[in-house]
Amino acid sequence: MKNAVQFDLGVAGGGPAGLAAALGLASTGCRVALVAPPTTHPDNRTAALFTGSLQLLRSLGVWEECRAEATAVRAIRIIDDMGGLLRAPEVVFSAADVGLDAFGYNIPNAVLTRALHAKAAASADRITVIETTVAAVEPGEHSVRLRLDNGREIDVTLLAGADGRNSLSRAAAGITTQTWRYEQSALTCTFSHQRPHAGVSTEFHRPAGPLTVVPSPGNASSLVWVDRPAIAQRLAALDEADFRQTLQARLQGLLGPIGEISTRAVFPLSGLTVDAAGRNRVALIGEAAHVVPPIGAQGLNLGFRDAAILTDCVADAQRAGLDIGGAQMLDAYARARRMDIASRAWSIDLLNRSLLSGFLPVQLMRGLGVHALKAISPLRRLVIREGLAPSFVSPRLMREDAATPAP
Ligand SMILES: Cc1cc2nc3c(=O)[nH]c(=O)nc-3n(C[C@H](O)[C@H](O)[C@H](O)COP(=O)(O)OP(=O)(O)OC[C@H]3O[C@@H](n4cnc5c(N)ncnc54)[C@H](O)[C@@H]3O)c2cc1C
Repeated sequence: MKNAVQFDLGVAGGGPAGLAAALGLASTGCRVALVAPPTTHPDNRTAALFTGSLQLLRSLGVWEECRAEATAVRAIRIIDDMGGLLRAPEVVFSAADVGLDAFGYNIPNAVLTRALHAKAAASADRITVIETTVAAVEPGEHSVRLRLDNGREIDVTLLAGADGRNSLSRAAAGITTQTWRYEQSALTCTFSHQRPHAGVSTEFHRPAGPLTVVPSPGNASSLVWVDRPAIAQRLAALDEADFRQTLQARLQGLLGPIGEISTRAVFPLSGLTVDAAGRNRVALIGEAAHVVPPIGAQGLNLGFRDAAILTDCVADAQRAGLDIGGAQMLDAYARARRMDIASRAWSIDLLNRSLLSGFLPVQLMRGLGVHALKAISPLRRLVIREGLAPSFVSPRLMREDAATPAP
């Protein structure tokens, strides 16, 4: 391995999870190579991020940049729009129920990525940003060799594979996946409206999937409309006036007349879990490790927990004088992520399938569940708290007393 440049850690992928991992890992004092190709298409999605993720952004020193374009989500309203005989009651989960001012903040993905990338670029003493793609990943006994598309080669002791759902790092590490598809796609855009959203995110539970509007700055909201793939494509192809009319009808007057609408994008829904989040000097981060449908705003919150927990595991290994890419560190990381990832993937899948099911007993169970949440305050509080973050996961960078890291 003569010509390769050596780094302690490598991160493959410059999505929000990879960028957060690079900044978190650099806070351990390691030298990090971030291999991230330039963005080719704008991401029009927003992400609702909960307390732990927001604390991570604070710890990484990017919250102020994000804050200006973030909107507080103070309550979540669920409306049964199933059209069935057993209509569940409308339920409102309020942040005040659990003593919080807000559940979290809705932030455009483009803003998040820009702020994280700028911070990584400004941390040149610890992070080397290499704007290209990883062409090959070759795990060895003591290091992983990365062959890059620009012809360079680098060796790292540990690779954080944050290269998305079709992860090359994952395949190279021999980590196997379980994947599944949903006969659903999500249509996304942002739109302005006349009535204020008052910080309330609303989910219409519909037979083909939920339609969710999440507060954005001013009188605007972001839309995640889950429907059958053909319908999502048809909605995306409608001219603006027809789309406005269709959306207005679906929202049942909730936000008043709709004004400007951004470009629309369609995301086919699928699920993915891995047999282990780390092996052979590769630790998986973000959608390389898990893909879940956009229900309950869990995906990136999970990805940020991956980044924060990997940082803890590397710091613990350093302190104990262990190999930071060795089997002991990777086993600890995989163990720490297993339950969180499995429980989120399972519960989102269950909720999604309960909406899709036309089977009366399933609809009845779902309706009873919603009734129970409305009627029983301690149950509602428990569901809210666990939805925001699992009680068994508390990485250092997500704690309020987290020291601001070095970069
Ligand atoms: C409609 C929708 C709404 C959502 N809303 C929310 C929400 O409200 N809250 C929430 O928490 N989550 C939400 N999510 C999930 C969230 O968007 C994803 O979890 C997140 O974008 C994944 O980030 P990532 O960094 O893991 O992956 P990506 O953003 O896919 O980044 C992977 C990166 O790796 C790069 N890459 C790929 N191959 C290579 C290679 N060989 N070498 C180097 N780089 C490579 C790619 O270019 C890309 O930049 C939503 C998802 C959808 C579809």
